[in-house]
Amino acid sequence: MDLFEHQAKELFAEYGVPVPTGKVAHTPQEARDIAAELFAAGSSKVVVKAQVKTGGRGKAGGVKLADSADEAEQLATQILGMDIKGHTVHKVLVEEGSAIAQEYYFSFLLDRANRTFLSICSVEGGVEIEEVPHDRLAMVPVSPLDGIDRARAREIAEKGRLPQEALDGAAELIERLWAVFTDEDASLVEVNPMILTADGQVKALDGKVSLDDNASFRQDDHEKLEDKAAADPLEAAAKAKDLNYVKLDGSVGIIGNGAGLVMSTLDVVAYAGERFDGQKPANFLDIGGGASAEVMANGLEIVLSDADVKSVFVNVFGGITACDAVANGIVAAYKLLADRGEAVDRPLVVRLDGNNAELGRKILNDAALPGVQQVDTMDDAAERAAELAAAGA
Ligand code: GDP
Ligand code: MN
Repeated sequence: MDLFEHQAKELFAEYGVPVPTGKVAHTPQEARDIAAELFAAGSSKVVVKAQVKTGGRGKAGGVKLADSADEAEQLATQILGMDIKGHTVHKVLVEEGSAIAQEYYFSFLLDRANRTFLSICSVEGGVEIEEVPHDRLAMVPVSPLDGIDRARAREIAEKGRLPQEALDGAAELIERLWAVFTDEDASLVEVNPMILTADGQVKALDGKVSLDDNASFRQDDHEKLEDKAAADPLEAAAKAKDLNYVKLDGSVGIIGNGAGLVMSTLDVVAYAGERFDGQKPANFLDIGGGASAEVMANGLEIVLSDADVKSVFVNVFGGITACDAVANGIVAAYKLLADRGEAVDRPLVVRLDGNNAELGRKILNDAALPGVQQVDTMDDAAERAAELAAAGA
């Protein structure tokens, strides 16, 4: 999950990382009130910043300085509703303006290729880090075992060629950002720019944080950071039912047990779909090892509530949960959905293989569920599902 700048800065502030004072506004009037407060508290300028989860807001006209509350209100009027790289601005951050002496770059990230954490620091900030020449930036690996102390943080700042007068402030900021990065289970913490102010302070002027969703079981506070309005409604519904669902843009609904099987099912369906006007998988859905009737019903319900789905491919390899249990699950799911008033109204291709496959197939045959066809191999089943999707399109 990526955070908005204002959320990243709120998190930074909790860890003692210096950030400009500010608040979020959803309307020009709110922006005006916040700006008035900041001016009353002694700010000589305020800055109005579009809150969208993309960079380059400054260049797009989404970051503007104001000299008065009136002007802040006008700027908020312009910025709210603006489209920045496909993201509509629904809120702005109104902050005290900073007198910038210099702009630097700093980030912590996960270096998957080298199986370590990485810090990147540069005396050149405020621009895309990709544009900074390699000899002007330091890329310093950080061992998850050793972490970062003040001395190490200072070393990184020195390697990034920060000037003497910024080193103490930068070292403190970097040490605290490391606490944010590890304690919050982040995969990215980026500050661009990290600034040196005219009066010699080092601050985080921008903030980009990505949190690792796999850690949500031990990060209860993260749920409130979710942007519920922007979430795909089906993905949100699936998450609420503990299903591992990702919406894709094709027409063949996919349900399988086990992530590896589902991923290869996506490939096989996409391949077979080329022969049927380019039909593609409509989603990834792993119902996991158990595949009880209820889980199967929930899975079918989610997949079928996607109007783009024209056929469904249920691909099951019986392991610890044998195929007869899965077949019974499908039969019970049909009844459950009918009882909920959501009877299955699109064709279902079922491939059962593995433990007790014969028995599972017999159960499905005997049940004679409307619209259910069984195909014995994965390739043939994928082809049939793609063909049915093309026919239903
Ligand atoms: P981004 O363009 O999305 O990365 O947004 P930033 O928050 O990084 O802002 C872009 C640029 O606006 C910064 O690099 C600064 O040069 C400038 N800027 C942002 N806030 C202030 C401020 O308080 N005072 C001044 N003078 N410039 C600012
Ligand atoms: Mn920035």
